[in-house]
Amino acid sequence: KNDSRGTFSFFEAEMDARAQSRRKIEIDLREAIQGDMLRPYYQPLVDLSTGRITGFEALVRWPHPERGMISPAEFIPVAEETGLINALGGQMLHRACTDAARWPDDVRVAVNLSPLQFRTGNLLSLVMEALKQSGLPARRLELEITETLLLEKSSQVLATLHALRALGVRISMDDFGTGYSSLSYLRSFPFDKIKIDQSFVRDLGTNREAQAIVRAIISLGAGLGVTITAEGVETESELSCLRAEGCQEGQGFLFSRARPNAEIVGLLQAQSGADSAAPEDTAKAA
Ligand code: C2E
Ligand code: MG
Ligand code: MG
Ligand code: MG
Repeated sequence: KNDSRGTFSFFEAEMDARAQSRRKIEIDLREAIQGDMLRPYYQPLVDLSTGRITGFEALVRWPHPERGMISPAEFIPVAEETGLINALGGQMLHRACTDAARWPDDVRVAVNLSPLQFRTGNLLSLVMEALKQSGLPARRLELEITETLLLEKSSQVLATLHALRALGVRISMDDFGTGYSSLSYLRSFPFDKIKIDQSFVRDLGTNREAQAIVRAIISLGAGLGVTITAEGVETESELSCLRAEGCQEGQGFLFSRARPNAEIVGLLQAQSGADSAAPEDTAKAA
């Protein structure tokens, strides 16, 4: 009896500590948002046939005064539980559009949206406002959503997605393959891009099932006329496997981690410098 009571109070203490740490994150996050401390870092999206950067995904970074950089995996869930995600998402969208407006005209920016941002009812005007204020053409903005958004089969959500697309914004399905019934969602909305979740890419070399799934998603993309992007490309062998399967685009530590905006223009200049220095024939193979 003593043992089980001991275990129970240990469990309670654990729960308490977790609740407290979430509270602390909530308080600090609220302050960080108010103080405009959050920043998007940008991770390249690479055309696998040419090796060129076609765009960047904006990933929120929080430089915490005491704890250093905190991972979004830790604070996005808290932001969603507390409703702070709307302010956070709005700031990221504005900043990403403003940063991207200064990049070359053929480079896109991809911004992640939380399902909760669709519930506020003003997502469309938020996006229009961000485009207008930054001067970024709509065709250079990609919005990434996950399958959870489409789970409810809400007509309001679909209407918003169609309205966004009518602006010229591209809509991507993120983390494809990790949700419940991925395939049915592809019928409900004409996505511009599907991002294969990194869990499939990670197992490419060692797992025949993962390889078969990746192959199937790529051929699905070809059939639907949708761009396929592989997330989490870390090794040369994953890259050559994806190339062999005809995957169009990749993203991952092999190419680059997410970097601050200050480094992006230099990165793109290095790319165009390399272009003019090297003969073009190898790049034009596809
Ligand atoms: P995501 O949208 O699927 O973003 C890709 C995540 O994979 C990023 O993690 C990125 O750093 C990581 N990643 C990229 N390449 C590799 C690789 O080669 N190996 C491995 N192991 N990981 C790689 P990050 O930045 O920690 O973000 C995690 C998630 O947090 C994102 O997943 C997204 O769901 C969410 N998130 C990030 N920024 C925002 C935001 O501004 N708004 C919202 N709503 N969610 C965001
Ligand atoms: Mg994403
Ligand atoms: Mg993803
Ligand atoms: Mg993810």
